[in-house]
Amino acid sequence: MAKRRHRGMERRIAGERMATLFRLAETEALHRRTERARRYVELARRIGMRYNVRVPAPFKRSFCKKCFAFLLPSVSARIRVGEGRVVVTCSACGAVQRYPYRREQRARRASRARAQ
Ligand SMILES: [Zn+2]
Repeated sequence: MAKRRHRGMERRIAGERMATLFRLAETEALHRRTERARRYVELARRIGMRYNVRVPAPFKRSFCKKCFAFLLPSVSARIRVGEGRVVVTCSACGAVQRYPYRREQRARRASRARAQ
């Protein structure tokens, strides 16, 4: 008989392992060991793909989508804000990622209006 697999448990463990790997990647990036950090990011992504688990939210924007370098502001990434978006430039390959923050601005305006 085939070994019974518990999907939910597998995926929960996969998520925990990914978080651990991202934390390791962060430490390596902090010590400017970029290749080791990249390796951890790759391993985490591979676990995610295998078990169909998303990258944990806190780390979603923490690596380069092109070369998988761990992006640490001022160490391995340049962060600029303006015109309703955050621009993240990877120091390793120069890839640029843009994240909108209009929604946050709108939410802030709305809450301010409510307060008055
Ligand atoms: Zn990159």
